[in-house]
Amino acid sequence: EQSIRESLFITLNFAKDHFIENLWETDEGKSIGLSYFKERGFSEETIKRFDLGYALDQWQGLIDAAKTAGHKDEFLEQTGLKIVKEDKSYDRFRGRVVFPIHNITGKVIAFGARTLKSNEKGPKYINSPETELYTKSKILYGIFQAKNEIRNQENCYLVEGYTDVVSLSQAGITNVVASSGTSLTEDQIKLIQRYTKNVTVLFDGDKAGIKASMRGIDMMLTGGLNVKAVPFPEGEDPDSYSKQLGGEAFKKYLDNNAQDFIAFKTGIFLKDGGDDPIKKAESIREIVQSISLIPDPIQRTVYIQECSRLLHVDEETLISETNKLLLKNS
Ligand code: ATP
Ligand code: MN
Ligand code: MN
Ligand code: MN
Repeated sequence: EQSIRESLFITLNFAKDHFIENLWETDEGKSIGLSYFKERGFSEETIKRFDLGYALDQWQGLIDAAKTAGHKDEFLEQTGLKIVKEDKSYDRFRGRVVFPIHNITGKVIAFGARTLKSNEKGPKYINSPETELYTKSKILYGIFQAKNEIRNQENCYLVEGYTDVVSLSQAGITNVVASSGTSLTEDQIKLIQRYTKNVTVLFDGDKAGIKASMRGIDMMLTGGLNVKAVPFPEGEDPDSYSKQLGGEAFKKYLDNNAQDFIAFKTGIFLKDGGDDPIKKAESIREIVQSISLIPDPIQRTVYIQECSRLLHVDEETLISETNKLLLKNS
């Protein structure tokens, strides 16, 4: 007797295989999906490593294939692959390239799908809804492909998007996972902590990316992780920048520009505020706030010394401000 969960996994796996077959075997998939991936510089090996696929531009491409293969309709609905509205039902993913999301054991639990139209009114990415098997806040894109290398390298690169994971992996940086645009959660941090205590944040070089990295850094500090970050030029993300520089130069860029969180935050604040004393005071307060989140008192002391050095504030002041916050938080 197959459990319902088992059946859902089987249906998702069928969908993954169906999207892969579309990509490699159909005229539409080859001319639209595969050529899109190739234009983005993804090699066949990379496309296969991540099980990337293509959803045909049809209302019931997957639904019909699943029916023919004997999959129950209800499982298509429960996995979010089929949308049912009033008396109509249709495929959720149509005319998009598809990124399967795997759990840590490598089973597909959901999909992200990107439009190929640059002028489309609809969203650039759509994702599976939350289901019995898929809780967005508990998974990181790429964790299955990355987990062994995260352990071996004793570091995890954290990026924002699917394509950042795929590109970095192709460049030989395989210890990489994505939060997929949502803000980082405690469960996702715990997931990383199963493999390493060290995280390097590579978020997009735009306002949203900077804001998300600041917040993510604070959450990871609270969790006791060692956090570094790498700034990117305005308008670049790890995918675009790795392609601009090429794999080897990109790796050097990461090595040369990985900063601990204090240096990273200081750099951002100084760029925004310059020499304005009020802005500077605000920045110091923000950094002290982050330091106060670190559970280990010895690490706190080391970071206070660094902050003092970088921002020319005396240590005594920083210590007393940190202690005030610690008291407030306890
Ligand atoms: P691309 O390079 O293909 O344009 P990206 O990954 O750089 O994609 P961003 O706009 O930087 O795209 O968004 C980062 C991530 O956020 C995406 O990979 C995706 O997981 C998620 N995301 C972006 N837009 C949406 C959306 N409209 N709905 C849901 N998730 C989204
Ligand atoms: Mn972005
Ligand atoms: Mn991006
Ligand atoms: Mn991008």
